[in-house]
Amino acid sequence: MTCYDLHCHSTASDGSLSPESLIARAVEQGVDVLALTDHDGTEGIAQAQQAALNTPLSVIPGVEISVTWGSNTVHILGLNVDKNNVELEQGLKEIRHYRQQRAEKIAERLEKSGISGAYEGASQYASPVMLGRVHFAKFLVEAGHAKSINDVFKRFMVRNKPGYVSGEWASLEQAVTWINQAGGQAVIAHPARYKMTATKLKRLIAEFKTHGGAGIEVVSGRQHPEEIKTLAKLANDFELLASRGSDFHSPDNTWVELGRIPELPKGVTPIWQTW
Ligand code: AMP
Ligand code: MN
Ligand code: MN
Ligand code: MN
Repeated sequence: MTCYDLHCHSTASDGSLSPESLIARAVEQGVDVLALTDHDGTEGIAQAQQAALNTPLSVIPGVEISVTWGSNTVHILGLNVDKNNVELEQGLKEIRHYRQQRAEKIAERLEKSGISGAYEGASQYASPVMLGRVHFAKFLVEAGHAKSINDVFKRFMVRNKPGYVSGEWASLEQAVTWINQAGGQAVIAHPARYKMTATKLKRLIAEFKTHGGAGIEVVSGRQHPEEIKTLAKLANDFELLASRGSDFHSPDNTWVELGRIPELPKGVTPIWQTW
């Protein structure tokens, strides 16, 4: 059976492997089709495609767009996008600009709570185009302010904590529209991770579908097996396609490996069936 992993990250966002190393690892793990979906950018795709040329692996050009929906941040994957599409490129550029400003604010807030040098410190771990919370987390651990990345996320980088700045990302409609304009398919990433009530999640899915969304991630890394059933039912109820992706970021997270997630359950329509 073909192994699809349609969600992962490289050093072009907050992953810790270069696109080349990521491809090598995916091949080792027996992945056949890998979508590279870095946060708010497509800079890693060309390298990944190049690295996959003499391997059995196919690379799907993708992106994971940060979206502000009411008081929530949600992530929308774009699969099979044309990374040179002007609308998508321009949209991602604006998000990157916000990301840059947010990073400066995060550093200011940390400074006020007695932690200096966070901007420069976090930048050491980041690509020049994307500075995110994971890079700040790596700095805070390295500088001895926290014992692990997980610890940082609990104590610093979430709502009401010193390193948190609330998001002003793209709108749901913008993200879905850019992806469609770039010839891709929009997929709601890890729907179970938003801690929304069932009613709210359904409202998100309904709106997403109205804007032209194509699918939801039914199987994702770090997910409870029970959630697969719930998400499969939601996909079918809303007549949406089902996707499968590990959300792999780093070999340090030994509980999430490329391709090593459950199969899509029977009864859903895999998004790759439309390819
Ligand atoms: P950002 O887009 O910069 O706000 O960062 C979001 C990223 O932070 C996610 O894609 C994850 O990679 C990472 N992240 C979020 N929550 C956690 C957590 N509890 N532990 C580790 N990483 C996390
Ligand atoms: Mn991430
Ligand atoms: Mn995500
Ligand atoms: Mn992700």
